Amino acid sequence: RSKSTQRGSYTVFTRQMGTEIRERATLMQHLHKAFDAERLFLMYQPQIDLNTGQFTGLEALIRWRSDNGTMIPPVEFIPLAEYSGLIVSLGAWVMRTACFFMAQLKKQQRAPKRMGVNVSAVQFRQDDFVATVRKALRDSGLEPACLELEITESVTMTGSALFEQRLAELKQLGVSIAIDDFGTGFSSLSYLDKLPADRLKIDRAFVTQIDSAAGPRIAELIIQLGKKLNLAVIAEGIESQKHWDYLRAAGCQEGQGYFIGMPMLETDLMQWIASRG
Ligand code: C2E
Ligand code: MG
Ligand code: MG
Ligand code: MG
Repeated sequence: RSKSTQRGSYTVFTRQMGTEIRERATLMQHLHKAFDAERLFLMYQPQIDLNTGQFTGLEALIRWRSDNGTMIPPVEFIPLAEYSGLIVSLGAWVMRTACFFMAQLKKQQRAPKRMGVNVSAVQFRQDDFVATVRKALRDSGLEPACLELEITESVTMTGSALFEQRLAELKQLGVSIAIDDFGTGFSSLSYLDKLPADRLKIDRAFVTQIDSAAGPRIAELIIQLGKKLNLAVIAEGIESQKHWDYLRAAGCQEGQGYFIGMPMLETDLMQWIASRG
């Protein structure tokens, strides 16, 4: 204490940290309450075939509507939920909700082929993760082939025996695996070759990059890599006709983004589907 008062900067630093920790704790309490009060919900963003326009998939994206009605984006609370461990039950809820909605869609016409669900590293590491997925599928009656788990590159690239084992079990179960935000992590190409993934998701940053005239187009390289490794490729963050045209010409099969469809509530999505005829 006396030491910290002597050193002014040190005192300021700890005070700031104290404030941050308190703010985080408050946000955490609110998040737990929101989960209990069912103020967390999912939106679904469509994915399409860039050549045919065919509706191919959906991605479930979590949303939190706070007390005063403002929307708190997942980038702000997912890390918190991971830190507190809430992500395990939250993630299981996302998985179940997305599977049930997809199973319901499958009973109707014009359902897409698959539903993508984001999985955090913390969830993936749980001993009962595969059991949680299996249960969500069984309870909802959804075919495993209709579920795609989106795992970020950093999770998949650790190369540990546990991850390899878990991925193998999931493949065994029949779900597909997409590597999310591809290109932003630290993939070893030799490891990627062995990874039992089905799809690479080109990170939005590389789609944005298409707009700048100079420099290498990473998106194109990822598309070629996907071809060589026999992995499907989907681009996220398509915001213009230019993005779409460029990616299609480069051989990218599928895409999602605001230009194609925003993340939508179930009812809006049903309308979006209907309006496409
Ligand atoms: P992500 O999985 O890479 O999801 C794509 C993000 O890009 C979503 O942000 C989506 O709304 C946004 N997006 C889609 N198209 C466009 C576009 O054309 N332009 C722009 N600017 N953005 C676009 P969102 O919903 O805020 O989610 C952010 C991240 O939070 C996700 O990135 C994912 O990593 C995480 N996340 C979302 N839902 C869940 C969840 O249920 N579980 C876990 N573990 N993570 C989630
Ligand atoms: Mg994703
Ligand atoms: Mg992504
Ligand atoms: Mg992303």
